[in-house]
Amino acid sequence: MPAPKDLLATVFGFSAFRPGQEEIVDAVLAGRNVLAIMPTGGGKSLCFQLPALCRDGVTVVISPLIALMRDQVRALREVGVEAGALTSGNTEEETEGVFQALDEGRIKLLYMAPERLASAAPLLRRINVTLIAVDEAHCVSQWGHDFRPDYLRIGELRRTLGVPLAAFTATADEETRGEIVTRLFDGVAPESFLRGFDRPNIHLAFAVKDKPRDQILSFAASRKGQSGIVYCATRAKTETLAQALREAGHSACHYHGGMEAEDRRRVEVRFQQEDGLIVVATIAFGMGIDKPDIRWVAHADLPKSIEGYYQEIGRAGRDGAAAETLTLYGPDDIRLRRSQIDEGAAPMDRKEADHARLNALLGLAEAAACRRQVLLGYFGETAQPCGNCDLCDRPAELFDATEAVRKALSAILRTGEYFGSGHLIDILTGTSTAKVRERGHDQLPTFAVGRDLSKPAWGAVFRQMMGRDLVRPDPERYGALRMTEAARPILRGEAAITLRRDTIQSAGSRPVVKS
Ligand code: ADP
Ligand code: ZN
Repeated sequence: MPAPKDLLATVFGFSAFRPGQEEIVDAVLAGRNVLAIMPTGGGKSLCFQLPALCRDGVTVVISPLIALMRDQVRALREVGVEAGALTSGNTEEETEGVFQALDEGRIKLLYMAPERLASAAPLLRRINVTLIAVDEAHCVSQWGHDFRPDYLRIGELRRTLGVPLAAFTATADEETRGEIVTRLFDGVAPESFLRGFDRPNIHLAFAVKDKPRDQILSFAASRKGQSGIVYCATRAKTETLAQALREAGHSACHYHGGMEAEDRRRVEVRFQQEDGLIVVATIAFGMGIDKPDIRWVAHADLPKSIEGYYQEIGRAGRDGAAAETLTLYGPDDIRLRRSQIDEGAAPMDRKEADHARLNALLGLAEAAACRRQVLLGYFGETAQPCGNCDLCDRPAELFDATEAVRKALSAILRTGEYFGSGHLIDILTGTSTAKVRERGHDQLPTFAVGRDLSKPAWGAVFRQMMGRDLVRPDPERYGALRMTEAARPILRGEAAITLRRDTIQSAGSRPVVKS
């Protein structure tokens, strides 16, 4: 058997394994069942391609993405590896060619779309399959976003063939992992690997929105001439922000799904070829982008989930050189993201899962210490304080907010969970507006009990309460805040809570404390 390390160099032309790859390759070669969780771009394919070359027989690779399968087959053939694919994208000749090569025992890797599994069972029993590799294994989970019913056949295939199975995914949450183990491995835990989520060269930073356009402009100003991406939540904003960047002397253009395919293509090509272009985009931009020297990624609005955040910032610094990120967020973002979830068509438990993913991101935004620890912790990895995030650069100032939060909760409850933070803050600070007087809220026992904090400070308290999911906007009544179960222990005086004093990013990236 050729040594994996030699094949790494001679076949693939790589001088070393990436984090996690060698352990996974060893376990697969030893014939153990494996579940490997690695980020997108972490180098998963090598972890089954290399063992496939070392072992006798055929490795069947199941993947949901036809284009990706074809790319991999082409790349393998280019380096002299016998590979073929059976997908609905094949011509008849291609399929014939694959069958023939299989009969002659010439194929090492057989890629197959999940829909093919049902009809291919006799074929798979006939040829000498020695390993099953499952790419995007989270597709077997009804919990996640990409459920593929045909993936449910894979467990049966594994049992019938009696060969080891190696499953790969970038999806981290416990529920999805649990379903993968149940459905692919009959509930018998495989050897699991979770590696490579850290991107140490990417600087992480969040800032509360405060004149967000200026914040993005000043972030870009100190990075003039570098390639960067600004992600926005809406198409309209990509256009206005790109315009503002151009007026500030940058080379910038917008990109979103509403543009003609040809125009989008033009932006992609320019970005790939030019130095120092800024693309202001919705999340439609990124999938096909393979530019190693993107020096920065900014979010003008809060991303949808922690997974989305990770993927979007992960486009920076692929070359390993220092890269910077900045994510802006505010109470309106939280409201927008919550209402998008609530108003979506997903079933109830999926909505709760999406709220939880959003909560994870908000937890990162409002983190008290090293952001990388929080981020990697979400993906299941442990880490030391990184020294390369805004909170390592400058720790957040914390305060015991138990009393403030209890006052805020009581203001919410005494007004029937019917109002947004603006009105609640008026009540707490004893601001006698017309609305306050009309509703008789100046007669409430909570009126003016929060005079010790300024209005912006109360704004920060409410935002963080939303961030911790202690209160949620009522989907039926835009802006009105309701208390969640998570807040009950604090209201009852059974739990304390620490919050951050607001830090607001100003010109450049020097944080300024606002009280
Ligand atoms: P994914 O985990 O998203 O499936 P891929 O397997 O496509 O990622 O790998 C991402 C990129 O990393 C590919 O271009 C691949 O050639 C490259 N790569 C994988 N392993 C190594 C390695 N050990 N050294 C250098 N490059 C690698
Ligand atoms: Zn850090």
